[in-house]
Amino acid sequence: MLTTDQIALRDAVRELADEKIAPRAAEIDRTAEFPWDVVKLLADHDILALPFPEAFGGLGGDLLTLCVAIEEISRVCATSGLILAVQELGGLPIMIAGSDEQKRRWLPSMATGEILGAFALSEANAGSDAASLRTRAVRDGDGWRLDGSKRFISQGSVAGVVAVFAQTDSEAATRKAHRHMTCFYVEKGTPGFDAARLEHKMGIRGSPTAELTFDGVRVPESNRVGEVGEGWSIAMRTFERSRPGIAAQAVGIAQGATDVAIGYARDRKQFGRPIGELQMVGAMLADMATRTEAARQLLYEACREIEAGSPNAARWASMCKLFAGDTAMAVTTDAVQVLGGYGYITEYPVERMMRDAKITQLYEGTQQIQRLIVARALLTGE
Ligand SMILES: Cc1cc2nc3c(=O)[nH]c(=O)nc-3n(C[C@H](O)[C@H](O)[C@H](O)COP(=O)(O)OP(=O)(O)OC[C@H]3O[C@@H](n4cnc5c(N)ncnc54)[C@H](O)[C@@H]3O)c2cc1C
Repeated sequence: MLTTDQIALRDAVRELADEKIAPRAAEIDRTAEFPWDVVKLLADHDILALPFPEAFGGLGGDLLTLCVAIEEISRVCATSGLILAVQELGGLPIMIAGSDEQKRRWLPSMATGEILGAFALSEANAGSDAASLRTRAVRDGDGWRLDGSKRFISQGSVAGVVAVFAQTDSEAATRKAHRHMTCFYVEKGTPGFDAARLEHKMGIRGSPTAELTFDGVRVPESNRVGEVGEGWSIAMRTFERSRPGIAAQAVGIAQGATDVAIGYARDRKQFGRPIGELQMVGAMLADMATRTEAARQLLYEACREIEAGSPNAARWASMCKLFAGDTAMAVTTDAVQVLGGYGYITEYPVERMMRDAKITQLYEGTQQIQRLIVARALLTGE
């Protein structure tokens, strides 16, 4: 059950998404251009303020409220839903481990949408095995010097500030690397920092996925977030709150595809009657709606548990992301099936939704990694 406030927020975001974002979704996908107009829309309606504390210019929305908003936007456009999810992701290390001064410096402008955030952990050779990352930070006078590169960073090219995880011990690669990782915030325009290249992608095509390079980037001590060596812990605690956001994106995509399939099955006639009345098509619709609702309920429960400080937060986050991602993929594939040949062409949105769904099984840890986390938690009783 959602609270009255959460229902009101959901309905308001739903209306906004239907009126203003849905008509843009196909074009955002076709042009693969970052939708700054959607950023402005979300900022103007204070939706980007949801993840941030009231004390720092945000709305102080709880995790469930934030996920409901991400879900409603992703229902019509997964790229647009990701803007809100990544804004949270980019701000989480500061909210988790930043000083009051750092929170004052960055959070208010993230809450208003004046600057976007990004989160840079992955590298070309450090994906699932993120602890093996090679980006180095060495002490340099009263600050740090960063060298290395990051791959697949959502909004890395449009962000005003990026959370960058780097090794702060040159021997780390041969020892317990995750104990020597530190988090730094790098601001756009810092000399030596560049968003060198964007990826061409299957889905979420309007979301720029950037390769970032750091060539002797000077970062002041005041941009180090958390303790030296605390980076791995900060990244893992970040995922406990950001993976539900990806689950919400997945639930939204699944709901969007289900809605389109139901509408189509009512209208499309074959053998003299609506295809929805054909039992095999009706059964597909029933399965799609049931799976989507199950994913939603698991997500909502995970949000409540995590918000309440559950000691099993990592497991809840992985479980909801795992189930919702697989649901989105299965449901959107079925939606294409319900529409037949029309599902396969760009005239209808379900082929886009199917392409968008795939990423929810990959980023913020692949489904295999989520299963490893859940299994480990079950076996160790965490
Ligand atoms: C569009 C997009 C946006 C992204 N955004 C960001 C971002 O904003 N910030 C960021 O830091 N990263 C981001 N990523 C990176 C993403 O998190 C990684 O791609 C993901 O973690 C997988 O890493 P990899 O691609 O290197 O695959 P690999 O780790 O090479 O995995 C390849 C395959 O092996 C499997 N595998 C690997 N290890 C194991 C294991 N131990 N057991 C079983 N199976 C295993 C994987 O599940 C996968 O099927 C993004 C990626 C994409 C594509």
